[in-house]
Amino acid sequence: MHILLHRADGDTAPWIADFAELLPEAEVHVWREGQKARPCDYALVWSPPQAILRELSEVKAVFNAGAGVDALLKFGDALPQHVPVVRLDDAGMGVQMAEYVSHAVLRYFRRFDEYATQARAGQWQPLPAHRKEDFSVGVLGMGVLGSRVLEALAPFGFPLRGWSRTQKTLDGVACFSGADGLDAFLRGSRVLVCMLPLTPDTGNLLDRARLSALPPQAYLINVARGAHVAEPDLLTLIKSGHIAGATLDVFRNEPLPVQHPFWQEPRITITPHISALTLRRESVEQIAAKIRRLEAGLPIAGIVNRTQGY
Ligand code: NDP
Repeated sequence: MHILLHRADGDTAPWIADFAELLPEAEVHVWREGQKARPCDYALVWSPPQAILRELSEVKAVFNAGAGVDALLKFGDALPQHVPVVRLDDAGMGVQMAEYVSHAVLRYFRRFDEYATQARAGQWQPLPAHRKEDFSVGVLGMGVLGSRVLEALAPFGFPLRGWSRTQKTLDGVACFSGADGLDAFLRGSRVLVCMLPLTPDTGNLLDRARLSALPPQAYLINVARGAHVAEPDLLTLIKSGHIAGATLDVFRNEPLPVQHPFWQEPRITITPHISALTLRRESVEQIAAKIRRLEAGLPIAGIVNRTQGY
């Protein structure tokens, strides 16, 4: 069996070593621009260049080394429709998202940023506590990662709500769905967590009108994709005081350019797209298990619906 491997960071050796251990029947070939690759059974890519697509028309499946497949599906039909695209299912990302989002929610709820500012000024000043019943946390996207985050937040006792494309029922979570359910969902979300895939339906979702529908002093946490948010609109609403602040892990342009106004806004916390890193070992274990199932003619989870875009 042959696997074509593409890594934008060029760090292929540890991936090859993990495949040698976990799927020894496979020979891994690193894709190199300008070189014709040998025919392969499977491919594993992350944010690949267009030039690799011609190698993918005959593979049995393309594995994406992440949960979000937007960087692959943007090629449209240049990536042949008959080739299944398989995303990572959690593979160690769920717990990282739970840590990141819980931390951001608690930081805002317990006013830690304000206390940090005070501490730097040598100021000892207890602030009134926020009321938990005023602190509903709304999660956009209740998929593999969104539902894991809701589960992690449950023990803290915040009122929880979730929004998805199809209606869900989840214990202890007020569930909303579809375009019709969005406005009511937003109006009750004091903290808004974006965990949606980036698709033609969800790009620019968080524009001025949607962000204005949030209650006063709302807080945004975006761990999905930068293109979900109209960045100038977010900045305007933070400056106006309607939105209290944001924790942003993802941006339209990454790395976030040095001149970007977000860097100058103290109410925005910036992290460099690290909320849930792809863990190599967990990923190779999952992909190896899926390849074994495919070879045995068994179904696998995580095949992307190309029409839906996720
Ligand atoms: P899933 O595909 O498992 O879940 C997606 C969720 O979004 C589903 O609940 C789906 O609804 C909902 N959804 C999709 N389209 C719409 C829509 N038009 N309207 C309403 N709801 C919609 O994805 P994951 O949870 O695994 O991952 C989510 C995203 O997180 C990834 O696509 C990726 O972009 C991002 N991510 C970011 C990382 C980072 O480090 N910053 C790391 C990993 C992922 P339904 O349930 O009805 O299908």
